[in-house]
Amino acid sequence: MSHTNKTEDPEYDAQDASFDKFWEEHEEAKICPFCGEDDLVIERKRNRRSPYNYYYFIKCTICKASSGAYADMEAAYKHWQTRA
Ligand SMILES: [Zn+2]
Repeated sequence: MSHTNKTEDPEYDAQDASFDKFWEEHEEAKICPFCGEDDLVIERKRNRRSPYNYYYFIKCTICKASSGAYADMEAAYKHWQTRA
């Protein structure tokens, strides 16, 4: 067993249940506009300058396309949607 333990990275904050809920609400969007796969994830990282805040980005695990970092999931999602 050698899977990466991402919790060792202090910048990384594992996906939580709210991400699953978000995808349920935006199910039609869970397709990558670049490669057509539906293996998208939302990631959350701590903001270095403001440790109590996070930024979010949507990423395709297949082709590695990314929405870029936004202050909330909705903003990341909107940007993702207009990227194709
Ligand atoms: Zn993709």
